[in-house]
Amino acid sequence: MRFLSFTHGRYRSFGIRTEAGVIDLGARLGGRVADLGALLTLLDRGMELPELRGAEADFGLEEIGWLPPIPAPGKILCVGLNYAEHREETGGRGQHAHPTLFVRFADSLVGHRQPLRHPGVSDQYDYEAELAVVIGRTAFRLPAERAWDVVAGVSGFMDGSVRDFQFHTSQFTPGKNFLESGAFGPELVTTDEVRDGFDNRLIRCEVNGEERQRARLGEMIFGIPELLAYVSQWTVLRPGDVIATGTPGGVGFARKPPRFLRPGDRVVVEIEGIGRLENPVRAAD
Ligand code: MG
Repeated sequence: MRFLSFTHGRYRSFGIRTEAGVIDLGARLGGRVADLGALLTLLDRGMELPELRGAEADFGLEEIGWLPPIPAPGKILCVGLNYAEHREETGGRGQHAHPTLFVRFADSLVGHRQPLRHPGVSDQYDYEAELAVVIGRTAFRLPAERAWDVVAGVSGFMDGSVRDFQFHTSQFTPGKNFLESGAFGPELVTTDEVRDGFDNRLIRCEVNGEERQRARLGEMIFGIPELLAYVSQWTVLRPGDVIATGTPGGVGFARKPPRFLRPGDRVVVEIEGIGRLENPVRAAD
């Protein structure tokens, strides 16, 4: 199943994407569920989805604006330096026995097709294609063997990074949290649709149609089980929480010469069988 969050004019809701368009699940639940993150919480508590077999689409895909699938996650954790080629291109950083982790705020992210906001105060705005994991079940001290059981699904993620602000100190937070500098989507694809052949799925980044990054998900140094087991040792994972799992080699700042994003550029993160997240870059205002 493919869940999405959307706008239609000033109306905001969430739903299920079908061949014909969008089934407005928010409306079919009587407007009582705030967003898709809240729905995941209710499903974790035993609520069942309404019967939707034969349901007709409420909106065509061309009628909606896309929000991040989870518009206001309780936590957005990001993994740094999780592909060997990316570690190498950054000078061998991140050679630790444990994952490198940092956080993003929800307002640093936009949905599919929404413009990314160039930082304005920096000309070192960079792309990072990633897979995002969305948690579906509350988990604390989770064994790695059970990690996939708590995953609701996956999505695309563009961990837009402002490199000078990222490296002002040893802490990544400023450079990873510029307003509307990253993207998340288009859809939350449920786990049952992606486990088959997961490791072999291709993840790619394109800028203005030119491929800049390309890897297989199985190339991650810390895989989904290890990441969830590690994180849940020190925090409770809750429905709607998001973990961005790191980017492959080929980022702009490591190129010679560096190639940063400019207003007018178009960034695509594509993950095989999961989705194609497309965003233009606009100038700061
Ligand atoms: Mg990243």
